[in-house]
Amino acid sequence: VIEIGKPERSVVTTCAYCGVGCTFRAEMRGEQLVRMVPWKDGKANRGHSCVKGRFAWGYANHKDRITTPMIRDSIDEPWREVSWAEAISYSAGRLKDIRDEHGARALGGITSSRCTNEETFLVQKLVRGGFGSNNVDTCARVCHSPTGYGLKTTFGTSAGTQDFDSVEHSDVILVIGANPTDAHPVFASRMKRRLRGEDGREGAKLIVIDPRRIDLVRSPHIQAQHHLPLQPGTNVAVLTAMAHVIVTEGLVDTQFVQERCEIDAYEDWARFVADEKHSPEVLEAVTRVPAEDLRAAARLFATGGNGAIYYGLGVTEHSQGSSTVMAIANLAMATGNIGRPGVGVNPLRGQNNVQGACDMGSFPHELSGYRHISDAETRALFEADWGVTLDPEPGLRINNMLDAACDGTFRAIYIQGEDILQSDPDTKHVAAGLEAMDCVIVHDLFLNETANYAHVFLPGSTFLEKNGTFTNAERRIQPVRRVMDPANGYEDWEVTQLLANAMGLGWDYGHPKEILSEIARLTPTFAGVTWERLCDEGSLQWPVNEANPDGAPVMHVDGFVRGKGHFVVTEYVPTDEKTGPRFPLLLTTGRILSHYNVGAQTRRTANTAWHPEDLLEMHPTDAENRGLNDGDWAKLTSRKGETTLRVKVTERVAPGVVYTTFHHPETQANVVTTDYSDWATNCPEYKVTAVQVMPSNGP
Ligand code: SF4
Repeated sequence: VIEIGKPERSVVTTCAYCGVGCTFRAEMRGEQLVRMVPWKDGKANRGHSCVKGRFAWGYANHKDRITTPMIRDSIDEPWREVSWAEAISYSAGRLKDIRDEHGARALGGITSSRCTNEETFLVQKLVRGGFGSNNVDTCARVCHSPTGYGLKTTFGTSAGTQDFDSVEHSDVILVIGANPTDAHPVFASRMKRRLRGEDGREGAKLIVIDPRRIDLVRSPHIQAQHHLPLQPGTNVAVLTAMAHVIVTEGLVDTQFVQERCEIDAYEDWARFVADEKHSPEVLEAVTRVPAEDLRAAARLFATGGNGAIYYGLGVTEHSQGSSTVMAIANLAMATGNIGRPGVGVNPLRGQNNVQGACDMGSFPHELSGYRHISDAETRALFEADWGVTLDPEPGLRINNMLDAACDGTFRAIYIQGEDILQSDPDTKHVAAGLEAMDCVIVHDLFLNETANYAHVFLPGSTFLEKNGTFTNAERRIQPVRRVMDPANGYEDWEVTQLLANAMGLGWDYGHPKEILSEIARLTPTFAGVTWERLCDEGSLQWPVNEANPDGAPVMHVDGFVRGKGHFVVTEYVPTDEKTGPRFPLLLTTGRILSHYNVGAQTRRTANTAWHPEDLLEMHPTDAENRGLNDGDWAKLTSRKGETTLRVKVTERVAPGVVYTTFHHPETQANVVTTDYSDWATNCPEYKVTAVQVMPSNGP
């Protein structure tokens, strides 16, 4: 029993881990946080939480936190602690010199889905208005950028269609490429309640499309009707086979399609999927899913009542990520599963503020509210408000910035809240790009792996030390409230403001609510959002505007945002990453309940006890063929690199497939991942890497 003492005060704020966005009461004694208590009135969590939000906050006071700025002229030199004034002036001086010598497009920035909407908005404003380029990107690039592209193309807006409450009205739930039990635990509990059934109501039916036998497939009182353990990289083929069944067996909701969708595009799509070469029997050879299972799953989804689709990074992090998102949207439209509770297309966002980071204009081609930078009217609105001239050309994405750095045309970067060396694919290439730059400014809590290549380190603040807002996976904008003073003296938005002003921008924000009011002024979907309303009402789900003054829990109710829904032909194209004699296995990656992404926070908490290292899951047959037993060390090798992990022998993965997490820098799973990426957005193909696994004596 731990004696925590009586709290003296508490502050209600929002969890900074996953996209569920649970609300907590942070209980304080003096300046010490003593307990995080799930807030019963939290609309996303209703008093529930998981082990990350409740227990994994110790990193805020961890000895590894850097609280004093540091600079060095070259990455071979030791760091030198300096004052904030010197660090900011040094950073601004180097950025201006590089801009003068190489032009504005030699500079860029990366925002974080971990930071608040207001912080993200300011980083993209600094890059566009201060650096003078559109070279701004966000870590959503490497997770949900295909969601942005796919849902905008088909529905007209880059967001999930439903609120979490919607699941209570579902009759059939299709989970593809997501593992909510580990990655979105509080929402998973709600989904499981609906799957179990309660109050005399029969549970919803479940279809799981995933190479692994995730917990949902069979857990207490839940048994998926269909688990389709597809070959990694074949999502589009599975969805096309299901669409073939729906079209050829007359299961399309023709009334919905005729009233709500573009008919020409629908007919093109229907002709395409109806072709015999897209039948489950033909595509079975590609997907390795038995044809009868594909047929049965398609029939259940089309005829089982309200059908809802939930997906995660197992959909987006593929060379066909955007195609898969559009194939999902096609399936929802063809079966009339859009625009009411219980249905819809629901991306489960990995990070707390992925939705917000995308909404805030942190992509190189879009200003806030998903408006293209080439649109003169939109640009004029921002130029008048900000008093700057904007570059009409879209900027570089993260991977393009690194490519350009290797070519010598991109020279300086400001990275807020991201450890791209550990989280982005093909670690060697990331390192080469960073090393080639003249100025790398890392703004973060810890000296992370990326900071090894930095010239300036600006200490960051935790979510407990700042005010602002996060937007969760259901478009719910929620307040983040300062629980304690920042250990470094500044909230992150204040640091960005210092840098902006050192570059001559003359910003004068006194509180994030002023930034939020600027966002609302410039972003139609946020028009009715104010800090005061959020504090009074707890949250608002965008769009909040004249048409939806109180927000919109369900979107596309009477019509799609783009008008008519747009079917897209999504042809299955095999990934270029091939298995062969040297690399006969396919590696796919994911997360575990107690840890979060690269583990920078959770590894610095007691949660590490639950999962002290990354493990390599391997089917018993593959393990036996290599003489490997549970707990043995193994060398994991790909065409890109190698690492060493302990083996966990399990039937959760199929023969020929191995799986690991990427929470610990010692194993750095991304040294083996490839540089293949989504054709539309460059989201990396983390989920498919051809590898070999052989016994090893350890690292
Ligand atoms: Fe809720 Fe996600 Fe935080 Fe867990 S990590 S408490 S599910 S927001």
